[in-house]
Amino acid sequence: MTALASRGRSTPADTRRRLVVIGNGMAGARAVEEILARGGAVQHRITMFGDEPYGNYNRIMLSHVLSGEEDAGGIFLNSLDWYRENGITLHAGVRVEKIDRFAKLVFSDDGRATPYDVLIIATGSRSSMPAVEGLYTPGGRLLQGVFAFRTIDDTQGMVSYAQQDHHRRAVVIGGGLLGLEAARGLQSHGVGVDVVHSGGHLMNAQMGPDGGAVLRRSVEALGIRVHTSSRTTAILGGDKVRGVQLRDQPNIECDLVVVAAGIRPNVEVAVTSGLPVERAIVVDDHMRVPDEDEIYAVGECVQHRGEVYGLVAPLWEQAAVLADHVTGADPSSVYLGSRTATKLKVAGVDVASMGLQAPERDTDEHLVFSEPSRGVFKSIVIRDSKIVGATLLGDSRKVAYLTQAFDRGLPLPEERVSLLFDLGGPGEEAGVAELGGDAQVCNCNGVSKRAITDTVRGGCTTLSGVMDVTRAGKGCGSCKLLVRQVVEWAADGTVDEDPAAEYYVPGVPLEKAALMSAIRDRGLRSVSAVFAALAPAGAEDAKSKMGLASLLKMMWAGEYIDERDARFVNDRVHANIQRDGTFSVVPQMKGGVTSPEQLRRIADVADKYNIPMVKLTGGQRIDLLGVPKEDLPKVWADLGMPSGYAYGKSFRTVKTCVGQEFCRFGTGDSTKLGIEIESRFQGIESPAKLKLAVSGCPRNCAESLVKDVGVVAVDGGRWEIYIGGAAGAHIRKGDLLATVDDPGTVTLLAGRFMQYYREHANWLERTYSFVPRVGIEHLRAVIVDDAEGIAAGLDEAMQRSVDSYTDPWAERNDPFTPGQFRTSLPLEVLPRVPIR
Ligand SMILES: Cc1cc2nc3c(=O)[nH]c(=O)nc-3n(C[C@H](O)[C@H](O)[C@H](O)COP(=O)(O)OP(=O)(O)OC[C@H]3O[C@@H](n4cnc5c(N)ncnc54)[C@H](O)[C@@H]3O)c2cc1C
Ligand code: SF4
Repeated sequence: MTALASRGRSTPADTRRRLVVIGNGMAGARAVEEILARGGAVQHRITMFGDEPYGNYNRIMLSHVLSGEEDAGGIFLNSLDWYRENGITLHAGVRVEKIDRFAKLVFSDDGRATPYDVLIIATGSRSSMPAVEGLYTPGGRLLQGVFAFRTIDDTQGMVSYAQQDHHRRAVVIGGGLLGLEAARGLQSHGVGVDVVHSGGHLMNAQMGPDGGAVLRRSVEALGIRVHTSSRTTAILGGDKVRGVQLRDQPNIECDLVVVAAGIRPNVEVAVTSGLPVERAIVVDDHMRVPDEDEIYAVGECVQHRGEVYGLVAPLWEQAAVLADHVTGADPSSVYLGSRTATKLKVAGVDVASMGLQAPERDTDEHLVFSEPSRGVFKSIVIRDSKIVGATLLGDSRKVAYLTQAFDRGLPLPEERVSLLFDLGGPGEEAGVAELGGDAQVCNCNGVSKRAITDTVRGGCTTLSGVMDVTRAGKGCGSCKLLVRQVVEWAADGTVDEDPAAEYYVPGVPLEKAALMSAIRDRGLRSVSAVFAALAPAGAEDAKSKMGLASLLKMMWAGEYIDERDARFVNDRVHANIQRDGTFSVVPQMKGGVTSPEQLRRIADVADKYNIPMVKLTGGQRIDLLGVPKEDLPKVWADLGMPSGYAYGKSFRTVKTCVGQEFCRFGTGDSTKLGIEIESRFQGIESPAKLKLAVSGCPRNCAESLVKDVGVVAVDGGRWEIYIGGAAGAHIRKGDLLATVDDPGTVTLLAGRFMQYYREHANWLERTYSFVPRVGIEHLRAVIVDDAEGIAAGLDEAMQRSVDSYTDPWAERNDPFTPGQFRTSLPLEVLPRVPIR
């Protein structure tokens, strides 16, 4: 649980109304943003509860996280700093269980009773689980291998399960939008996927059978097997998923089941507290719960005029109306329902659907074009010269215009066929110019044309700049084309190229080479000195500090001036923070080699400090997990061993195999060389983490081919050096840099490559991106053949870094600040994995 008390904390003088929000999802956070935008912080002291242990994130992007296109960390909408800066108290990881409407209190599962003057319920929904035999264990948990698809935890669980080698087949239950996105996402982890759908055709909520048939062909062309009109009757397995049983069809063997069969509003709190609930929590046109003056509800947990929505566009509109009323900004504001449009976020299958699937009245016009062999299907329903429905498959060129025409009821051209094809109908430019100012351009983030044009006219004329400021295009990404068109239109066609895309860090407007030479020329040795000299108006930028600190340390080695606020918590306490706020300690074991004496000490420390888990890592180390921050210095002291580098953007470990010494196949002493390399380069800073390995023969037991730098002993006592390999979310076999005769040359060239990478890679650019970007031929020329005459300089720079190494764990005896090892956050209790 994370509680962020902040500027909003109650003081005797604080007479603001207490606004409590239950649910920190997309609707709850958006409602708060809208309230703040209307000056609501002056009137309200805001407290938010969210039962997920995180800040607010873009749930839409989970499909991209599953497919590996996006990192879970990249989808957060509001950072914890945002809550703090806006004086919001956030109880993350805390569930509200009941509301006492008479005493005006909410009760949460951490035992807290929180008073409110105004209450907003934004509890969203959860995956609807079908009544299928074998879905749950007798203890009531989902069977191992079964996943819902709703939260970050669901998604990460799915990714790690799918990445296990022996999990090869998945069944997705549900062939709607979410099911198809899940299926495609799972495929990207090398898993074969079957989709089982009870409807007669895929996405039957959004399109008719003809479109569904074309969609099925496109989905099957991706290698996804589709079973329509088919119901799952049981999950087979017992201890873990081994297959699914279908009605009227043969069983399907699988290791993983994803349930994407619809959603169910989270209404338990409302029901328990006596609020009106039908399909969801009932609200009026002001988003207020009937007969409750001060209780509002918003988002997927809401039923408005009989409708329950499962998309974000409606909740943006609801949040704006709610904020108008809560703040009194516009008491006449009403929400009258939303028109919804959906898009499938599956690369290679363009699907957009809005409104009606087919004509309903005799007077409705219906345009249909179908070309199944190309996967193209278009259907448009027109009523009273307005678009009331459209389905577009396989050709998205007209989507932006049609979505706007549908949303805004734009006048249509006489020649209807131009709605389907570019025949001189409303061109994109005309479409953009015709849009009203409050036309929603980005549905995911609720950004209007006016917000974009205002930003452009305010002086921001780069596409990415506008996207950063407004968040337009930062949801599912399907409106990016329209955002660009609006930006171009507002900027009179002159969108500036975006120089910031090339900056090494966002806060200093210089590319890496220019930044390094400015730093060198001016002798800037600390992060604050760089900001003062090189940032616009000397402004410090929090997002740039870590990158600058790493760069300066690399450039100045021992002469670098350390400023602690430039460090992430891991670097401040020299340990890796875990989800529950505790840390892990990984005693150093160079090359993965340890001794009975070390093992005894590790075991004693684990006993003495009640370390909840002792785990072997994939990098041949022992991880002591669950150490509270304040115990870190004592744990290190009792271990009497330096901690291994298991965190930070730096050189981490060298994995080794047993090699020549013990292995029948070994031709080189991989263990010895691994230890030498690890001892030499320990702790050096780099743009991203560096993981190395040395194998004693081409059997590659240390997985050298998929490391940032991997070394393999080959016949004749020689060694091959590979660079730019990866075996995580990205998989890449490293490129052969050189084959050399002796371990000394291995160490020299590995160090030279790492120094070149440190000097030329972008911040956070792993070697698997850097090596192909720069090209192995170029790297070989510079590093092996010294084509640019810089080899000696690279070697010297690396030597300076090696010489300036100091043991960071020495700070255990002499903390840098009094609070360095004092915990500041209450810890979240995590379930512990039982040790069998
Ligand atoms: C994988 C995926 C892809 C999607 N793609 C799209 C898309 O492309 N386009 C689109 O428009 N929409 C999409 N959606 C739907 C969209 O994400 C939802 O419409 C939106 O998140 C709803 O917002 P909400 O705030 O109502 O609910 P949520 O975002 O679910 O937030 C509710 C929060 O409240 C918490 N909560 C519930 N009960 C309690 C309690 N008692 N106490 C404390 N906290 C509680 C929940 O845990 C949750 O964190 C997608 C959804 C998923 C899962
Ligand atoms: S890589 Fe070769 S030397 Fe090393 S353990 Fe495997 S087989 Fe033996």
